[in-house]
Formats: sequence, C-alpha cells, structure tokens
Amino acid sequence: MRPSWGWASRSAAELLGELGVDMKNALGPAIDEVTFYNADFSKSAVPNLDGPAAYVLRRESFDEALVKAARKAKADIREETTVKDFRLSEKGVTLIPVDGEPVEGRFLVLATGVHPTFIAKLGLHVPSIAEWSVLSVTHKVKSGAKIKNPRFALILGIDRAGGYAIAAVAEDEFTVGVATTAERSVAIGLLMQVCRGLAENDIVPEDIAPQAAGAQIMHGPAGAAMAMDSHVGKHALLVGDAGGFISSGSHEGIYPAMWSARIAADIIHEAADDQHPQDILQTFDSKWRIEMADYLRMPNSDIQFLLPLIFSNQTMTDRMGAAFFLGHNM
Ligand SMILES: Cc1cc2nc3c(=O)[nH]c(=O)nc-3n(C[C@H](O)[C@H](O)[C@H](O)COP(=O)(O)OP(=O)(O)OC[C@H]3O[C@@H](n4cnc5c(N)ncnc54)[C@H](O)[C@@H]3O)c2cc1C
Repeated sequence: MRPSWGWASRSAAELLGELGVDMKNALGPAIDEVTFYNADFSKSAVPNLDGPAAYVLRRESFDEALVKAARKAKADIREETTVKDFRLSEKGVTLIPVDGEPVEGRFLVLATGVHPTFIAKLGLHVPSIAEWSVLSVTHKVKSGAKIKNPRFALILGIDRAGGYAIAAVAEDEFTVGVATTAERSVAIGLLMQVCRGLAENDIVPEDIAPQAAGAQIMHGPAGAAMAMDSHVGKHALLVGDAGGFISSGSHEGIYPAMWSARIAADIIHEAADDQHPQDILQTFDSKWRIEMADYLRMPNSDIQFLLPLIFSNQTMTDRMGAAFFLGHNM
C-alpha cells in the first residue's frame, strides 16, 4: 500500500515536462516551506533552496497523467492486466497474462516494483544492502482546520543510523513518514513519537499517534541499484524499484524510477535498430551509473556527526536541504 500522495522533486517536474506530461494534472502545488527539526523538536533550521523543495504528488492523478502521455505517444496500454509469467526466446519476449492472449515483444523493461519474482527469472538479484523500513500515516484534517501553504517538516537524527521522519502538510491532509533501519516495534514507536512531537509543537493540527500504531511497514531497497552487478537480462532491463533505483539518503523513488526508465527507453530505441541488440542493452549498466550514481548514493558524510552544524550554521543547513531534496552531495 502506497500513500495516496507524496512528493516529487524539482528534477522530477523537469523530466515530466521533457516527456510531454500534462504538469497541471500530474503534480500539485509547489512545496516552498521546509523546516528541519532535531528529534526532540528543541532545535529548528530553515534551508534556502533557491526555489521549491518539491511538489505535491497525488498518486492517482499522477498515474493518470503518465498513462495519458504514453497513449499520446502511441503506447499500447493494457490496464488491469496481471502478467503471471514471461518466456524469453532468441527472437524476444512473450508475456503471459492471467487472462487473455499472450503478448509478443522484442524487449522487456521490468518495472514491477519491489516484487522479486520476475527479477530472479532474469538471473538478476537486487541485494537488500540495508534493511530500510518505510512507514507512514496520512490523515485528512477536520474542515475548518485548513492548512494554508503546503510544507515539509524534516526531523533529523531520530535514530543513530541515518533514520529520519518527514511530515508533508498539504491543504486538507498531512502525511507523517519514517525511514529507519530499526526493527518493526521500534519503527512504529518512532513514528508515534514523531506524530506526538509534531502535534505538541503545532507543526500539524492533530496528534495522529493512535493511527500510527497500525501503520504498515514497507521494505524498500534504498540505494540497492549501486550494489548490483547488472540490470541487464536477456532482451531485458530492470528499472525503478525493481532495479533498486531509490535514493539512499531521502528514499525518493519516483524520480529515480522515471529517470532509469528514460535511460532504458533511449537504449532500447538504439538497440532496436542494431544488428547486435544485446550488446547495446549491456550499455545500460554504465549509462545509468554515469548519470545517476551521484544522485542515488548516500551524502558522503555522517549526518549524525553533522547534526549540530546543520542547526547552527546556515551553509550546512542549505547543504543538507540540497542533499535531501535536490540529490546534491554534502
Ligand atoms: C510509504 C512509502 C512512501 C513513499 N513516498 C514517496 C514520495 O513521497 N516520493 C517519492 O519520490 N517516492 C516515494 N516512495 C517510493 C516510491 O513510491 C517508489 O520508489 C516508486 O513508486 C517506484 O516506482 P516503480 O514504477 O518502480 O514501482 P511501483 O510504483 O511499485 O509500480 C510497479 C507497478 O507494477 C505493477 N505490477 C507488479 N507486478 C505486476 C504483474 N505481475 N503484472 C502486472 N503489473 C504488475 C504494480 O501493480 C505496480 O502498479 C514511497 C514509498 C513508500 C513505501
């Protein structure tokens, strides 16, 4: 279960524009206000990002806008179709849906999210380099308690291993999420503690700690792409969560998923016209690494060690903001 909304970075917005996606429907308002807090909310700092930190992304309208753009580009789209298996031959790939006729194609771009079944069939493996858990709770605010501007509160140092919490507060609802390597009961405790702290400090209008107690935990392969030997199978490429393309620091996954898919699409376009298409597909491994590795890797610093500076030195506050929301290095 993914929350119904989240955030898309500035880079994601640029890429959507390049792809001809209708931005008005794909993304919501810009999130201009960001405040960092320490774990007990006694310290805060506001980074200067020279523009919006990100945009509100409503999952349903975002997905619809992407499908619409793909249709416009003459993609043959089959919605509500579950693929139960696929076959690889010398000529290409055959997808076998649960219902309906098999579908033939020359190449397969596997973008099935974190489910490992098909990845293993390609002889590939996404390592779980860190046992990251992501859990979140979303709450509609009571009418009359409307929040003026969309904003983020980023709570740093919630554990000793780079865990953080984020509250994304929009007009009529807010989401509180935690990313941590802690085990389930500790992770739930952290989420509840953050929800309480946010309400006590008037950052969100209500304490939703009771709802947080039932939050579902998702395990994400943050940064796993970096540890993979290859994302290339026979006639096939892995993109998005399926290939571990998730930022190590911020756990941003939507932009890296789109970015890896754009690189894959360019390569397939080239491979389709080549006498040795598999050789062209192999170039995916080096191409994504050249373009994306700096964005995906952990900021090259120990955030725990830098915390006092982030709350006392504006340059470090700005750098932390750029590392988290823009994928820069510290
Ligand atoms: C709680 C939580 C909050 C998050 N918030 C954010 C956020 O705010 N911003 C952000 O950038 N990232 C966020 N992420 C990460 C982000 O959701 C993912 O990185 C992103 O969705 C990856 O996109 P994807 O297309 O690779 O995979 P998915 O979005 O998982 O899409 C995979 C699709 O493949 C389909 N599929 C799978 N198997 C089959 C099959 N056999 N047949 C047919 N279809 C199949 C699935 O139904 C699904 O529609 C969040 C993640 C979690 C867990």
